[in-house]
Amino acid sequence: MVAEKLRGARRVVALTGAGVSAESGVPTFRGAEGLWRKFRPEELATPQAFARDPVLVWEWYDWRRQKVAACSPNDGHRALAELGRRSFAFDLVTQNVDGIHRLAGSNPVWELHGSLWNLRCTACSRNREDRRAPLPSIPPRCECGGLERPGVVWFGESLPSNVLAHAFEVAGRADVFLVVGTSALVHPAASLPEVAGEQGALVVEVNPELTPLSGLVDLRLAGLSAAILPRILDAL
Ligand code: NAD
Repeated sequence: MVAEKLRGARRVVALTGAGVSAESGVPTFRGAEGLWRKFRPEELATPQAFARDPVLVWEWYDWRRQKVAACSPNDGHRALAELGRRSFAFDLVTQNVDGIHRLAGSNPVWELHGSLWNLRCTACSRNREDRRAPLPSIPPRCECGGLERPGVVWFGESLPSNVLAHAFEVAGRADVFLVVGTSALVHPAASLPEVAGEQGALVVEVNPELTPLSGLVDLRLAGLSAAILPRILDAL
């Protein structure tokens, strides 16, 4: 059914979350490995935590950067990159900050929550990419001397408006909308499949577990993304 719909589709959108990278060895926040020392992500990924203790927050990000640097794309990332080379228009929207979709060859990638590899100066707002893991010094400093912060969206912060606007625009025009490896708890990203569905897209969820979206989607494919996404491609 998905393959048949994809064959006739003009526009396809995929929304991915931490689950798509789980089989690459990147911990999700909800699994036991999501805990670092005794902290929960909600205690570290906030502007307040950074203001209180930038070194602690940077130590966590440096640990995450090192973990991700050791990970490679899996067959799920590769299948999504391949979908981007098919005849329909394809938009990949991700909540992931690990940058692995790009490594798999997806381009562009609409990163709703920023990237672990971007640093932003809290004084002059300069953005730069730095893929060194570990970083040579913590906390990192900008050329202007200002303290740099991770270029990610923290709890309580707004999503980048250009990325969000694009995501809603393409969701509203999609013929097929794939929701892959996200617990669909974090809004506004979790609203994208609903918007797509309201506008007539076939909404397909790929996830081994039930989520708040499961009852609303047209089709649930219960399983791991690295197994299911290549099967969809094979059937195309
Ligand atoms: P989440 O941790 O809340 O949920 C992960 C979902 O993936 C779960 O529903 C789980 O059942 C599913 N899942 C696990 N393994 C899977 C697999 N192999 N195939 C398909 N699905 C699988 O993640 P979320 O919904 O992305 O939200 C958490 C937030 O944390 C995001 O906003 C993201 O920015 C951040 N985060 C990112 C990363 C990353 O970049 N890789 C990792 C952890 C957290």
